[in-house]
Amino acid sequence: MAKIRLDKLLAHSGIGTRKQVKKFIRKGLVTVNGKAVRDAGTIVDTKHDEIFIGNEKVKYRDLIYIMMNKPKGVITSTYDPAERTVIDLLPPELTAVDPFPVGRLDKDTEGLLLITNDGELAHQLLSPKKNVVKKYYAQIQGIVDENDVKAFKEGIILEDGYKTLPAGLEILRAADVSEVYVYLKEGKYHQIKRMFKALGKKVLYLKRLAMGSLVLDERLKPGEWRELTEEEVSSLK
Ligand code: URA
Repeated sequence: MAKIRLDKLLAHSGIGTRKQVKKFIRKGLVTVNGKAVRDAGTIVDTKHDEIFIGNEKVKYRDLIYIMMNKPKGVITSTYDPAERTVIDLLPPELTAVDPFPVGRLDKDTEGLLLITNDGELAHQLLSPKKNVVKKYYAQIQGIVDENDVKAFKEGIILEDGYKTLPAGLEILRAADVSEVYVYLKEGKYHQIKRMFKALGKKVLYLKRLAMGSLVLDERLKPGEWRELTEEEVSSLK
């Protein structure tokens, strides 16, 4: 993502809102390779162009990595005409660089969601060949038992005939409402809900806790987010 509109780049660099940076550009305060540029739509190359605002060089990170604790009621999508999306929860300086969610959580699922504009990393994390394990906490109506654990391990035939890959199920509490951890290497549509449904059980609550080495920061309340640390980013690569 080396080529980007000048106003977008400045907004993302935290210089100001898109409207404010357009004003700076119109006033001739912004130079690209030593020349004042007054057209906000000028395409600049973040790898090669030197951009100054006044005397200050604009520092630009073109890749962003965000960990969100996705709340219920928000959809995992970049844009939707009717529903609130996870991207709507981010400030404009971050949405300016076109981040997207890596994988999907259902509207009523909470928990760890990685949001980035690093297409290569997203592709790697989602590739079935990479076997990235996703860990979930779930509450299930009814008693979950060892037969269910065995079924998860062996693979479950879903209602559409698809047989799931071997998955982990760990019982934390077997009761009227059971509590479990689920470990999945794949991410089919509504997978955990459909796996339990095939066993005659219903998922009441679902939260993703981890994705490979990336673990949800429990300090993040639903709807909150933070950027990944450098260590977290490099451990994913
Ligand atoms: N499985 C589901 O059923 N829903 C999710 O959101 C994630 C995994």
